Amino acid sequence: MKQDVVIVGGGLAGLYAALTLDTSLKIVVFTKHTLEEANSFLAQGGIAAAIDNEDKPEYHLIDTLNAGKEVCNLEAINVLVNEAEENIEHLHELGVEFDRENGKLSLTREGGHSRFRILHIDGDATGKGIMDALIRKAKTRPNISIVENSFCADLLVKDNRCVGVKVLMDDNTINDFYAKAVILAAGGIGMVYGITTNTVAATGDAIAMADRAGVKITDMEFIQFHPTVFHNLENKRFLISEAVRGEGGFLRNIHGERFMHRYDERLELAPRDIVARAIFYEMELTKADHVYIDLTSMSAELITRRFPNITAKCREYGLDIMKEMIPVSPAQHYCMGGIATDLEARTNLAGLFACGETACTGVHGANRLASNSLLEAIVFANRAAKMINSTIHGIECPKSIAMITKEKISECRCDVEAEKNIIQMTMRKYAGIIRSQAGLKKCLSILDDSAKLLEKKKCRNKDYLECVNILTTAKLITESALARKKSIGAHYMINETGAVE
Ligand SMILES: Cc1cc2nc3c(=O)[nH]c(=O)nc-3n(C[C@H](O)[C@H](O)[C@H](O)COP(=O)(O)OP(=O)(O)OC[C@H]3O[C@@H](n4cnc5c(N)ncnc54)[C@H](O)[C@@H]3O)c2cc1C
Repeated sequence: MKQDVVIVGGGLAGLYAALTLDTSLKIVVFTKHTLEEANSFLAQGGIAAAIDNEDKPEYHLIDTLNAGKEVCNLEAINVLVNEAEENIEHLHELGVEFDRENGKLSLTREGGHSRFRILHIDGDATGKGIMDALIRKAKTRPNISIVENSFCADLLVKDNRCVGVKVLMDDNTINDFYAKAVILAAGGIGMVYGITTNTVAATGDAIAMADRAGVKITDMEFIQFHPTVFHNLENKRFLISEAVRGEGGFLRNIHGERFMHRYDERLELAPRDIVARAIFYEMELTKADHVYIDLTSMSAELITRRFPNITAKCREYGLDIMKEMIPVSPAQHYCMGGIATDLEARTNLAGLFACGETACTGVHGANRLASNSLLEAIVFANRAAKMINSTIHGIECPKSIAMITKEKISECRCDVEAEKNIIQMTMRKYAGIIRSQAGLKKCLSILDDSAKLLEKKKCRNKDYLECVNILTTAKLITESALARKKSIGAHYMINETGAVE
């Protein structure tokens, strides 16, 4: 049995790549948990594409650049905005049905977007809508095998080429899977901070394994904190989508006062980093651990039609959002940095591609514009797949037997929960929404201590390997943040007097 392509991750980036690769290629897609445990399922607001008559890719480019600033890669943004429409059409061909009004695609607007260009599904369940359709399609393709509950632990590298991945399987065996090309599509890093909108699968595994293999990682200082995450004392968080502010939701402090006018003239539609910091400062001023988002002036019809899931989830917590304000606070949401890739999603290691949140194409720069990540995932997964389609036929699979069972590891019960908590608390305190040189240095020294503690345990179960990846990713974020002295986008530095650097 020979594999042509191994894909690490079955979220939007991984599955879309699998479905765009030639059907003559044998593809295996690994997912760490079940297919449903992926950030792609959680995406609510939608996917951006300049398809309205009033809109143009150039306007989308300007909005993306305004949010991401000079850190952005202009060429990559050009690709993103100009290839949006054809990839949305491809999603449609794969069975994805976006919401329509009077037969026309229904478009909404979100913070930082100057036009109505966000496509959505079932109001606020866009990610689930897309993923359900792609999973259905992938299951009809005999050339695609999806292997769930398999933890990809490391890359296999031979003669400066990535030749496969080392996988800890469900049955506790470690296997080497060889392939002609490997695509890393393992998603985000939310668990590095613990308080996050991300799924438990988001532990930075691909970034850490690429780093161990000497692959270039970039822009890790740029971490996006979502301003409005449902706040409750049990730490059961879920996102109150940007689209809620886009449709007219107001932010109010615990005294019921609107406050965004004190921070930005775009008010609630300012980019995420500005809104997140405004909420952070407002919480400090009012000595509260949350603010509110107020939908009570919206019509019941609009709320029910546009936000059925948010309405239902809030109701589970006894909140009627037609009549009551929703308590919210910021939480880690997205990593702009990641594995450095070129316009064809190639890394600097031959045979290794990366796409989706784990990659850094440079489109998001210092701050991601809402709804650009689903788009980035499909546009660059498409490019990775096309590049592989056109080059793979000349490449020999490094082993004729694609899968070799290496070893069975004994059940190891070592517990790393305490170490993980320390890393997460440290990252929230020192490498969060507001940072300082002194704080980041302290952060690095605590992370070094954690590394020594983990080193002593030397275990090899999944929890341990994940914790090592969380630590590696935390260190990459902190080191990058220390290296960038001046504030830009989501990286916000203050000095000893509290002034912005
Ligand atoms: C709550 C929420 C709402 C969002 N809303 C929007 C939105 O409206 N619009 C938008 O554009 N973006 C949104 N985003 C961001 C967007 O959803 C993600 O950036 C995008 O879905 C990432 O897709 P992905 O395929 O890269 O990763 P994911 O969908 O997270 O998939 C990662 C995959 O990798 C697998 N994996 C991870 N580690 C390993 C390993 N070691 N071995 C094997 N498999 C592994 C996982 O099991 C999973 O299958 C939102 C994110 C969140 C969390």
